[in-house]
Formats: sequence, C-alpha cells, structure tokens
Amino acid sequence: MDPNCLFCKIINGDIPASKLYEDDDVMAFWDISPQAPKHFLVIPRKHIAGPGAMGSEDEQLIGKVLRIGAKLARENGIGDGFRVVFNNGAEAGQTVFHIHMHVLGGRTMTWPPG
Ligand code: 5GP
Ligand code: ZN
Repeated sequence: MDPNCLFCKIINGDIPASKLYEDDDVMAFWDISPQAPKHFLVIPRKHIAGPGAMGSEDEQLIGKVLRIGAKLARENGIGDGFRVVFNNGAEAGQTVFHIHMHVLGGRTMTWPPG
C-alpha cells in the first residue's frame, strides 16, 4: 500500500469506485473516463508501479489480472472482441503508477493505437 497512490486508495475504500469484481488478489472497476462504450480497469491489490516494475514473483498475479479481465468482458456484455492495454511510463500515457490493465470493448477497435 502506497499512501499517495490513487488506486491503493480505491482498494482501501478511501476513494469510491464502481466495482465489477474483487477478490483477495485483484479488483476491477469501471474507468471514470471511458474511452469506449465499455471500459474497465483490472488491478492487483499489491502496489506495483507498472509492468516495468514487475518482479518474477508477480508473474502469476498479473496472469490472473489478464484472466479475470477476459472473464469480466464476457460477463459484462463485451463478449470476445475486446482490447487490453497496459500503459507503462508517462510517454506511453500512464497517469496512475499502480499497474492496471485497461479492458475496452463495445465498439470496433482500430490499429495502430494512438
Ligand atoms: P493510465 O492513463 O495510467 O493508463 O490509466 C489510468 C486510468 O485511470 C485512466 O483511464 C483514468 O480515466 C482512470 N482513472 C483516473 N482516476 C480515476 C478514478 O478516480 N476512478 C476511476 N474509476 N478511474 C480513474
Ligand atoms: Zn498503489
């Protein structure tokens, strides 16, 4: 837990979020500024700044983030057509430095991303 981290505060219940799912390892909630008709975030409870800060001990945890994200996409009407994004570093658009996976769906996606 990092007391200055927005997503740690959401995990802690200090800041409200519209939750889809939580268990002992991960939490999922709708993005406050959706970039697609359906856009949610999946985060581990453990504070890891981003993909570049992962250790080998985090591999299973982040694998779970991915599996739960796909399951929640199916359960929330997104189906099998969705995009997952991990931004790493400010240059890539990361604004919250607690690792999170975006799950976006409900519209046709284009490539390359911006
Ligand atoms: P990043 O840009 O770091 O990859 O993604 C951070 C995401 O967190 C953004 O999509 C942003 O809209 C979302 N976000 C920022 N603050 C909050 C908040 O207080 N609540 C929720 N639900 N999402 C947030
Ligand atoms: Zn955090």
